[in-house]
Amino acid sequence: MNRANDAKLLGALQQALGDQLVLTGGRIPAKAMSDRSRTGHHLPMIYIRPRSVQDVSSALRICNAHRSSVVVQGGMTGLAGGANPECEDVVIAMDLFAGVEEIDSNAATMTVRAGTILEDAQKAAEDSGFLLPIDLGARGSCQIGGNLATNAGGVRVINHGMTRDNVLGLEAVLADGTVISSLNRMQKNNTGYDLKQLFIGSEGTLGIITRAVLKLKSLPACRATALCGLRSYEDVLLLLRNAGKLMGLSAFELMWGAFFRFSSKAEEFRAFETEYPFLIIIEQSGEAVNLEEFLATMFEEGLIADALIAKSEKEREKFWKVREGLSLGTLPKLIEYDVSLPIGSLDLYAQEVTTALAAEFPSIHVSVFGHIADSNIHLCVSAGQVDAAEKHRINTIVYDGVRNHRGSISAEHGIGLLKREYLSYSRNPEELNLMRRLKKTLDPHGILNPERIICIAPTDRSGC
Ligand code: FAD
Repeated sequence: MNRANDAKLLGALQQALGDQLVLTGGRIPAKAMSDRSRTGHHLPMIYIRPRSVQDVSSALRICNAHRSSVVVQGGMTGLAGGANPECEDVVIAMDLFAGVEEIDSNAATMTVRAGTILEDAQKAAEDSGFLLPIDLGARGSCQIGGNLATNAGGVRVINHGMTRDNVLGLEAVLADGTVISSLNRMQKNNTGYDLKQLFIGSEGTLGIITRAVLKLKSLPACRATALCGLRSYEDVLLLLRNAGKLMGLSAFELMWGAFFRFSSKAEEFRAFETEYPFLIIIEQSGEAVNLEEFLATMFEEGLIADALIAKSEKEREKFWKVREGLSLGTLPKLIEYDVSLPIGSLDLYAQEVTTALAAEFPSIHVSVFGHIADSNIHLCVSAGQVDAAEKHRINTIVYDGVRNHRGSISAEHGIGLLKREYLSYSRNPEELNLMRRLKKTLDPHGILNPERIICIAPTDRSGC
């Protein structure tokens, strides 16, 4: 990019969208620098806040014509660096294109704009007597568009699947400005390729998502939640199997002892006299609940060593606050991993990685928790001051273990910029080739979220 071209680009964008929506210099908010991985350090050259699909389309058409790189920003809660700009980029921030457009109570669907905060969409569903099945800890800041772009998981996957399982239709804008309106509302529609799935989970590399039609479920009539202490990983697996057989589960979240000790101390929450190596939050919701009965049986069978049933919504929230583990963010230089492996191997993997890391980095702090029923755990590694080579070594230890157990290096957070180098640990060369071909077909000049997930050509991005 040269300065004359930059000036022409800016002029064309201002002419198409107006000065108010096209920001530069000191008018660009500092939050545009980095997502929640805290690995971005630069403001973009231009920051656009579209108010309509037409604005998104015009901005992309102009950027494509000028071969200018574009980075899409949702709520900036991503953990893979995917929304972090370089200083030569144009950012398209979706926050102004927000709001629920329609709730169809007969069909149980919601049509929503991409910039809508997840929690706002959840509230709108609840006000109409429905449950929006997508839910995650970042609900107060993340956007529906970001959830779709990352195919977010979260705490309801056990019952309702990943984000992609809850989408009926979608609208997206391609790199050249073409609007693909595929806002299907039907449960059944076998008319050729399921195009929406191309955009879900592709982290903004194939198009910018602007609207979606989401499935809604009935609000559960009642809910019960308990925190349980268990003595072994075998007991965790048996409890999960029994819970699946004996009652409908709506959450089954596991915290390893070290994680629980850290997070419960930070939340000033004392659950049990004894310290257990495994702590489970188990939740049941539906027309009727029998959690207490189930726990009593499991206690008699010796699977559960201790249990605390939430007596109030406040107590339930406390359990979940400990599980969400936001206090871990205070640990220095935290690196967060999000991996999935066959469920039977998860504890072995956690032990192997913790041992291998401690052998090379004696002061390292590793905490493990996760959506165990989905075979997905998060490793939070705080290694203090490490240089780039040491960080690479930590990544290699974590991902080598994943490869050895034939798992996935990203269960739900996505690849973004931070995991691209390791994508081949979980995808074979033929798969990677097909991904490149898809990217080249939909975005031949490689302007959209460049270098996220895969690179299609040697980069001439200058950096800052
Ligand atoms: P951003 O961070 O803004 O962007 C994420 C990626 O999507 C980027 O590549 C961006 O370019 C792209 N993108 C954003 N909007 C669009 C759009 N409209 N069209 C195309 N591309 C777009 N994730 C989970 O999966 N499960 C969890 O349980 C979970 N818990 C979390 C808890 C906390 C406390 C935090 C901080 C994060 C958590 N995350 C979790 C990660 C994160 O919240 C999700 O990835 C979320 O879906 C990102 O949404 P966002 O709007 O913040 O996207």
